[in-house]
Amino acid sequence: MHQVTLAGLTVDTRHVIGGERVASTETFESVSPIDGATLAHVARGGSAEVNRAVEAARAAFPAWRDLGAEGRREILHRLADLVERDLEQLANLETLDNGSLLRSHRRGVMPRVAMNLRFFADWAVEKLHHPVWQTRGHDNVVSWDPSGVAALITPWNAPLMLATWKIGPALAAGDTVVLKPAEWTPLSASYFADLADEAGVPAGVFNVVQGFGAEAGAALVAHPGIARISFTGSVPTAKAIARSAADNLTPVSFELGGKSPLIVTDDADLDLAVELAVEQYDNAGQVCLSGTRLLVHENIAEAFQARFAEKAQQLRQGDPREEATQIGPQIHRVHLERIQGFVERATADGARVVIGGGPNDELGGLYFRPTLIADAKPGSEILTAEVFGPVLAVQTFASDDDAVELANNTEFGLAAVVVCGNRERAERLTKNLVAGTIWVNCFFVRDLAAPFGGSKKSGIGREGGTWSFDFYADVKNTVYAPTGWKD
Ligand code: ADP
Repeated sequence: MHQVTLAGLTVDTRHVIGGERVASTETFESVSPIDGATLAHVARGGSAEVNRAVEAARAAFPAWRDLGAEGRREILHRLADLVERDLEQLANLETLDNGSLLRSHRRGVMPRVAMNLRFFADWAVEKLHHPVWQTRGHDNVVSWDPSGVAALITPWNAPLMLATWKIGPALAAGDTVVLKPAEWTPLSASYFADLADEAGVPAGVFNVVQGFGAEAGAALVAHPGIARISFTGSVPTAKAIARSAADNLTPVSFELGGKSPLIVTDDADLDLAVELAVEQYDNAGQVCLSGTRLLVHENIAEAFQARFAEKAQQLRQGDPREEATQIGPQIHRVHLERIQGFVERATADGARVVIGGGPNDELGGLYFRPTLIADAKPGSEILTAEVFGPVLAVQTFASDDDAVELANNTEFGLAAVVVCGNRERAERLTKNLVAGTIWVNCFFVRDLAAPFGGSKKSGIGREGGTWSFDFYADVKNTVYAPTGWKD
């Protein structure tokens, strides 16, 4: 009753608390976006389960801390091995649960899950814990001490990848973890907990409480026993979490939404510009980093738009398990209707639909056609709010200064893409763009050592490389004098 077999894996639908599977009296349904099939009934946790999980994580903390970075590295590498062993099944499970392309889960996302674990496990051993400078003969020795229990709250668009982007550094830093996965995609985290157990992660070091944001999530972030909160999700939820965190002064790391610009200058390689622009539909537009505002120089706007429309309309939409599919379904009916609402309000407000504009009637279900909006009023919703679907809006500019002004005219500052034919011109452009990550003539090139996060309302803090440890650990400076030693 508490287990389902999916994609060749046995998935337990209960919480994981202190190394035990724990049921709740109530459950919620996990539904596949591919065909609406009910996949599982998952334990619906609340404050009781959260309290137990935080207690278990606190109890497990001293031993995990004392194991040291080398000991933790060994276990995390074993866990990564197990992810790789079950990669095919995990990829299938994730596709069933969140509807993203199977081929990208296979080739990109799940290998990255393993990488998230290996990278931070190695980084903790190789890049931290060394004296960094001297002051009048005194050694300053910086250490990154484990800080306690990390509460991790994760979204549904790349469930296990974004969860391990936090789990990897948190565990490597010596923290113990309570994870609350998104309620629309609870399954991969649950199976991952079994792998953690098999890899030898001690009981209580990694806990999973399933449930809704307003219940399990809210209880977790309000808990006084947690040392860190790392959250990826929407701005309104971040505000609610920040309010809870304020009561305990719990440090937070927020990775939030975006309305990123993709700027195409008039000397840009047009083929490359079109290709990169079409990539913004990846994962059916459910990517916080997407460059959803296409800002195109007026001299090339017509040519760009014609080529873009042609290419975007060729995208193959359908079952995400099929190799040829390029765009799968949206995550949930509620979300599809939200996306539709954005497009309807944009057109009611005078904007024009260039391509797409609504659900794909041939396919039915949750498939929304790749959409391009033009002629939207400056400052209107479609140019300012995050849609989180396959909906891009095009605007034109006359000078690079205009482009920067348009690009920065948003409350977000997560990412930007610049397509430009001249390096100096690109450098001038990027200098004044406000964004955590800027890609020039490329998109989605990610290095785990690089800082990642958002400016303005796109986030608080940076993760990646040492930045992750700066967040999950207590950074300590110990100053050793050159005198006073007896040996
Ligand atoms: P989205 O709108 O993309 O679903 P959310 O920010 O609502 O994004 O959700 C991201 C994660 O935050 C999910 O795991 C969700 O359950 C959780 N969440 C939602 N509301 C709260 C809350 N009040 N406190 C803590 N977590 C929450």
